[in-house]
Amino acid sequence: MPASSPRGLSILGSTGSVGTQTLEVAALFPERFVIHGLTAGSNVDLLAEQARRVRPQCVAIADASKAATLRDRLADTAVEVLAGADGLREVATLDAADLVMGAVVGFAGLPPVLAALRAGKDVALANKETLVVAGALVTEAQRAHGAHVLPVDSEHSAIFQCLTGEDDATVERIVLTASGGPFRTRDPKTFSAITPAEALDHPNWSMGSKITIDSATLMNKGLEVIEARWLFDLAPDAIDVLVHPQSIIHSMVAFSDGSMKAQLGVPDMKVPIQYALSYPERWPAPHERLDWTTIAALDFEPPNTDAFPCLRLAYDALRAGGTAPAVLNAANEVAVALFLDEAIGFMDIPRAVEEALQALAAPETPRDLDTLRAADAAARRHVKELLLPA
Ligand code: NAD
Ligand code: MG
Repeated sequence: MPASSPRGLSILGSTGSVGTQTLEVAALFPERFVIHGLTAGSNVDLLAEQARRVRPQCVAIADASKAATLRDRLADTAVEVLAGADGLREVATLDAADLVMGAVVGFAGLPPVLAALRAGKDVALANKETLVVAGALVTEAQRAHGAHVLPVDSEHSAIFQCLTGEDDATVERIVLTASGGPFRTRDPKTFSAITPAEALDHPNWSMGSKITIDSATLMNKGLEVIEARWLFDLAPDAIDVLVHPQSIIHSMVAFSDGSMKAQLGVPDMKVPIQYALSYPERWPAPHERLDWTTIAALDFEPPNTDAFPCLRLAYDALRAGGTAPAVLNAANEVAVALFLDEAIGFMDIPRAVEEALQALAAPETPRDLDTLRAADAAARRHVKELLLPA
């Protein structure tokens, strides 16, 4: 039983893969957390069910057209129902919560996360697009408001755990591991025939559809390289990617004395989610243990950026700076959504991202959210015109 009083927690994107697993982790520690706010994009059924279960102070649904239904479902409770982008921001900045889980997918997660940091709240951040698009603004908000970003992404949690107790100045490089996705061994000549169902069949992780497609194109690893640049203040050349198909080593750090540290475990997001919630402590939990008797080998190979250009494009965008990462992210979000709708082919995703970067990336570093919104909107328009000509 913890001696301290429970922490106030709000979960942005509580109906998603990371959001539901965050609720599962919080339920393991009922004395440690009080949940004050939950949000969803449009899944009224699950949000209402979650709200009835954990009884937060308020919930927000981004799709405002669903607010009336949600109010109806919660009419016999004291839960306040908010809607739209303002509703999300309100949940992100509730007085009673001092820790916010950022588990919305895509650019939509950025404004509430920024608002939470600016209100001085610590943010357990799964929503990597936030750091890709607005790494400088997020870093600035942390510094100005004494708030902390705690990594949830498994690779970044691994690096964070390896860095505990170390002097940052002794870090030579980091190695982000990548499963390689479902098409690691497939003949690249057949990539244009890849269907959404094939791309959604990830070998090791069960996740939301957008990140699963990103894992298949290796854009996910590219976004993670940019995420690592901001979380750990590293130059692009100090961030390596290594394909490791078993996803047992979650990432590694190389230090200046020639030593390396790695963090290992079964692929289970509940472990990094819990570490972000328990940091700087570790709490006993019944998550699945690594069983060495079932692991035949740990394999490694370099990533193939000819077959998977998205990883190279992400490094290019990181090095270019300015609005390039925001353009990369927006172009990718639109292309992935169109691929999931079967409106475009798999290789149209890197094509659209490359095209958008060439046409739109500007060298000036965006200083505010509005500039980023404009870059995001322009890239979305550009990709739709490119891929869906009238
Ligand atoms: P998901 O699609 O399962 O869930 C996304 C959540 O965001 C849902 O609650 C959804 O209702 C909400 N949402 C979607 N669109 C929205 C909008 N426009 N406005 C407000 N809310 C909206 O996604 P996920 O797999 O849980 O991933 C969430 C984030 O965490 C992503 O950025 C992803 O890259 C990152 N991440 C996920 C995993 C994983 O294992 N799933 C691992 C590492 C990082
Ligand atoms: Mg990851």
